[in-house]
Amino acid sequence: MIGVVALQGGYAAHAVVLRSLGAEVREVRVPADLDGLDGLVWPGGESTTMTLGVEREGLAEPLRALAASGTPVFGTCAGMIMLDRSHLGLLDVDCRRNAFGRQVNSFEADLQFPGIDGGPVRAVFIRAPWVADAGAGVTVLASVDGHPVAVEQGNLLAVSFHPELSADPRLHERFLAGVQARRARS
Ligand code: GLN
Repeated sequence: MIGVVALQGGYAAHAVVLRSLGAEVREVRVPADLDGLDGLVWPGGESTTMTLGVEREGLAEPLRALAASGTPVFGTCAGMIMLDRSHLGLLDVDCRRNAFGRQVNSFEADLQFPGIDGGPVRAVFIRAPWVADAGAGVTVLASVDGHPVAVEQGNLLAVSFHPELSADPRLHERFLAGVQARRARS
């Protein structure tokens, strides 16, 4: 059972990809929606609006507890921002919002990922952040022009683009493989 944070933003497209890969999906709006999840996806959208939603619903502490328990979390674009030091403080990175420019500067790029076979991953960047600073425990998986756009730290995976929009499910597959591995261990 994979939760998709559904406060705002692109949660519906993530749910479609996850279901196509065989996952059950639950939209997460209030703390009770986090009960019993095997993994959590935080979609892109607008991080200021999401922050207001997290405060309104009292989601910050339950989300931190879920991540601290080792549950795999996959943050994309604004979802990556929400995990960083100045937001939930789960991922030991600082994100720079809108770092690649405004809506008109949206772009696509082919990114080579370590451990992902079958050629580069097509990545759609929309008002995307980049990682401006990362702690020692963070692994950079991919960069654009020297700026990290995909990182991993333990059970946390985050990308600054929109993997749900490119008809390439390999990052969702990688996330779900982490979910399966954890279930197999417990
Ligand atoms: N620019 C948005 C923010 O700062 C993120 C954009 C996105 O998620 N596509 O929240």
